[in-house]
Amino acid sequence: MTENHYDILIVGTGPAGATAAFYGQRLGLKTVVFGDTPGGITYMIESLVDFPSIVGGISGTEFGVKLFQQAQMEGAMFTMSLLDTLKETDDQFFATDTNGLTYTAPCAVIATGRAPKRLQVARSDMKGVNLCSVCDGPLFRDKDATIAVVGSNNAAGQHALTLSRVATKVYIICRSQTLLMDAAHRQLVADQENIDVLTGTEATGYVGLDCVESLAVTTSDGETKHFAVDAVFPAIGWEPNIKWLDFPVKRTPEGYLITDETLMTSKTGLFAAGDIREKKLYQVLTACADGARVAKYVSEFLEKTNG
Ligand SMILES: Cc1cc2nc3c(=O)[nH]c(=O)nc-3n(C[C@H](O)[C@H](O)[C@H](O)COP(=O)(O)OP(=O)(O)OC[C@H]3O[C@@H](n4cnc5c(N)ncnc54)[C@H](O)[C@@H]3O)c2cc1C
Repeated sequence: MTENHYDILIVGTGPAGATAAFYGQRLGLKTVVFGDTPGGITYMIESLVDFPSIVGGISGTEFGVKLFQQAQMEGAMFTMSLLDTLKETDDQFFATDTNGLTYTAPCAVIATGRAPKRLQVARSDMKGVNLCSVCDGPLFRDKDATIAVVGSNNAAGQHALTLSRVATKVYIICRSQTLLMDAAHRQLVADQENIDVLTGTEATGYVGLDCVESLAVTTSDGETKHFAVDAVFPAIGWEPNIKWLDFPVKRTPEGYLITDETLMTSKTGLFAAGDIREKKLYQVLTACADGARVAKYVSEFLEKTNG
């Protein structure tokens, strides 16, 4: 075997991938993890408050770096590059990273999470349209800024709360008649005086030359309006990060991987953990739980297949 042969190839350095690596190493498995962002998407969380034992919250970035360090100290190898291709022949997976290096293992775990969707309108990535309020919110501090958050899920609530501390006014533009975020987020949003929720209002376009200057919206009675804004943060849903996978593996119509009770996909030896798989609750806690479980299931699978 080459020195690049491992027991598990893990794709994704978020809570699911990093926890799978940590538990895998502790179970005596040699693990390699592909990805370039320690903690995955947790850097977008201003304060992680819904994780047991973390009283008062922790910044998502700090949490993500700790996850990464913990797995690294346990001996996991992090490539710090993205996975480029994953192939399978003769019960082995072959991975190539974006530096052109190759790795092999009898099992692979996909933990690539999901990304916020952009609005399907012209110039959807124009300047002033941002996906991460923790990263880009501080740009608007002391600027008397008006910011629109498009969406009504928990992520929209988090963006609005983060931005309410730097902007003068934050509008939540919500297509449905009620906010779809959980009760805790709804209450926090309601308590924040500079957040206004506009229900029954659909964002239909960005207006501006180089940078967004206003948001076009249509109200439920068909009226079209333009809101002058300094920035827009869409939080209108998610897309699983899986387009790169060219195996015929069972997925939901949206692309989430379907797994059995051992977190194995429809392809033998290929597992999935965290937000990339179909499940009911997409959270850091459930991603970490998936990571721990998948390491155990991979270890059992290897014991069985190695006799
Ligand atoms: C604004 C915001 C606020 C949130 N707030 C909370 C909160 O308060 N509490 C909570 O519990 N959850 C929260 N979440 C959700 C939480 O962040 C996710 O549920 C969690 O990070 C999922 O972990 P994961 O490991 O499955 O995926 P991720 O954290 O998404 O990590 C997957 C990583 O894999 C990478 N990747 C993709 N393709 C490849 C490839 N080809 N090669 C290598 N790597 C790849 C991705 O870029 C990403 O870095 C929030 C999310 C957002 C966006």
